[in-house]
Amino acid sequence: MKTIVTLFAFCMAWLCAVSGGGGNDPANAKPVRSAVVLHGDATLFNSLQLLSDEDLEAYYDSLSGLASPPSELMAQIDFFMEVRTLNQSDLAILLDSLFEAGSDWYPLINQINLYIKSRELEEIKFDYSTDTAPYPAHLLYGSWNTQLPHPYAPELCAADTVIRLKLAGGNSGAFAFPLDKCVLTSHYGHRWGRFHKGVDLDLRVRDSVRSVFNGMVRFVGFHGAYGRVIVVRHENGLETLYAHLHRFYVQSGDKVVAGQAIAAGGSSGHSTGSHLHFECRFKGVDINPMHIIDFKTQQLVGEKISLVKTPKGFAATPDGVVIHSVKKGEYLRMIADLYGTTCAQICEQNGIQCNSTLRVGQKLRIL
Ligand SMILES: [Zn+2]
Repeated sequence: MKTIVTLFAFCMAWLCAVSGGGGNDPANAKPVRSAVVLHGDATLFNSLQLLSDEDLEAYYDSLSGLASPPSELMAQIDFFMEVRTLNQSDLAILLDSLFEAGSDWYPLINQINLYIKSRELEEIKFDYSTDTAPYPAHLLYGSWNTQLPHPYAPELCAADTVIRLKLAGGNSGAFAFPLDKCVLTSHYGHRWGRFHKGVDLDLRVRDSVRSVFNGMVRFVGFHGAYGRVIVVRHENGLETLYAHLHRFYVQSGDKVVAGQAIAAGGSSGHSTGSHLHFECRFKGVDINPMHIIDFKTQQLVGEKISLVKTPKGFAATPDGVVIHSVKKGEYLRMIADLYGTTCAQICEQNGIQCNSTLRVGQKLRIL
């Protein structure tokens, strides 16, 4: 506790120092709670964490040797060196105390969070050379995080435009439905004013939950509203998430095959009844599982999908899916007849209601 009090004094000194300055000081940024959301801002911490302890101390000494030592910068370096020595639980206490102190501290909280995040990613880097088989999608991620279900910063997907993923067949292996039966109780999309990033499937407590593809278990643990949750990274980079579980059958690092029981289903976390919350993500970006799995037939929509970058993330298009651009005068029934499908099928694939009015130019996915 003493360390935290000392650190708090450091914080105070730093805040007084930086808020006196002008320009782009992070302390002058609008203090909002979203400051804790991790984005790759260039900060002093970012630069300092590149230096080893010895280099930092040498840097500090060289500053103190100057005719007029830069006291603000030295206070910040001092503070950073202290933060670097803290373990996870002390860091959590420090962040809590900063939160309680008010919104003036959010820029500093942001810096500390960014630092913690980079440190986690560094520490859990996987040594791929120890495994002769290619590690699932390591080239796409470059890191292996067993501490968080969703550790990825948004910039991870910044360079990607179109990605083609082979889901099954050949080396990719098979596909297996996650449960023995399929009762879809909630879709992906807006729900009660929030965005539901997966689908819900009904189950009885202790029903087996299976990995849908071959892969390696990345995260196993209890996490907030998810309750007990497992994330499996598959060889093509896709990650699937299984939440509200009752019991785990696997550990982080286990290799699993499609159809292998990884957990018993349940109702842990924020759940009103026993069900499986199932998500598909690519580099942290959520994808509508219905664009990958046909929940009626419990089969893949296609063996390959294309992920196309959109302003909000990625849209998945299975091979063989036609994109129909709505023309003037067209209505749903007419388009269904044109492709020999049903209105209900089109609505389900596109997340629209049967009585929706179509816009000219609207893109509809037709299976
Ligand atoms: Zn859900």
